[in-house]
Amino acid sequence: MTARRLDGKDLAASLRAQAAEAVTAAAAGGNAVRLAIVIATQDESAAWYVRSLTGAAARVGIECDISDLGADAAPGRIATELARLSADPKVNGIILQTPVPAGATAAELAEVIDPAKDVDGANPVSLGRLTAGLPAFAPATAAAVVRLLDFHGIGLSGRRAVVVGRSAVVGKPLAQLLLARDATVTIAHSRTPDLAGVTSEADVLVVAAGRPGLITAAHVRPGAAVVDVGTNASDGGLVGDVAAEVAGNAGALSPVPGGVGTVTTAELLLATVTAAADQKNVGALR
Ligand code: NAP
Repeated sequence: MTARRLDGKDLAASLRAQAAEAVTAAAAGGNAVRLAIVIATQDESAAWYVRSLTGAAARVGIECDISDLGADAAPGRIATELARLSADPKVNGIILQTPVPAGATAAELAEVIDPAKDVDGANPVSLGRLTAGLPAFAPATAAAVVRLLDFHGIGLSGRRAVVVGRSAVVGKPLAQLLLARDATVTIAHSRTPDLAGVTSEADVLVVAAGRPGLITAAHVRPGAAVVDVGTNASDGGLVGDVAAEVAGNAGALSPVPGGVGTVTTAELLLATVTAAADQKNVGALR
C-alpha cells in the first residue's frame, strides 16, 4: 500500500484566498487588518518563520507591525509591549514569537495578550476556553491539523485518535479539538511506555514530538491516517517525525514540508481577519 498524500498546499491556497477576500471587504468599509508580531529572540528558525509569515500576510493585504525587542529584552518590557498592542484599537491580532528570553515563559507573557486578539491561541485563557467548549482562537498548528484532516475527508467522530506530544502549543489544544469532534483521544509523551503499542491503536495518528524518525512502520496500524507535525532541520532542509517507510503501511500521510506547516500560516491569516471582523462587530454594538 502507498499512503495517500495529505497535501496542505491547495487547502492553504484556499484559506489565503478567503483571508484576502475578507481583507478586501474590510478595506471597502474603510478598515485595515493589522497583525502585530512581537519578537525577542535571535533564533534563526524564528526569523525564517517571521519572514515567511509577514510575506504571506502582505500577499493577502494584512499589514504587519513587527516589534523587535532584542534577545536580551526583560520580561517586563515584553509584557508592556503586549499590553500596549492589546489596547491599540488599530491592532487586530497579536503573536508573541517563541522562544522568549530567560526569566519568563511564553505562556506567562502571553497572559497579557487580549484573548480577542490572541490569533495563535497563546494566552492560557484561550486554551481554557477551548477546553470548556467556549469560542476561542486555537493555536494555528492545532487548528491546521483538524482542517487538513477535514479537507481530505478523514472522519473523526467515533474514531480513535492518538496525539504524540503534550505541549501547550500543539498536543494539548489538538487533543481538545479532536475531542470536540467526538474522537476518542489518547495523548502520548516521552514517559509513555510502549509507544508503538499505543500509537498502533490509532485510526488517526498525529505526531508532534520534534524527534525525526520517531514513528516507524511498527508504530502505525495498516491503513491509519498519519499527520506529521514535526519540523526538524536536516541537511539544509526539513524533515518530520515520521519515517519514510510509514508511507508503505499508512492509509494516508501528510508530507513535511508541504503539509501542516503550510496550512498553519494560512490559519493565522484567517484568524487575524476573523479577529478583525469580530472586533468590528463588538465595536458596532458599543
Ligand atoms: P515541544 O514543546 O518540545 O513538545 C514535544 C512533545 O513531544 C513533548 O510533549 C514531549 O514529551 C514529546 N516527546 C518528545 N520525545 C518523545 C518521544 N521519544 N516519545 C514520545 N513523545 C515524545 O514541541 P512542540 O512545540 O509541541 O513541537 C513539536 C514539533 O512540532 C516540533 O518538531 C516543532 O518544530 C513542530 N511544530 C510544527 C509547527 C508547524 O506549523 N508545522 C508548529 C509548531 C511546532 P514530554 O512532554 O514528556 O517532554
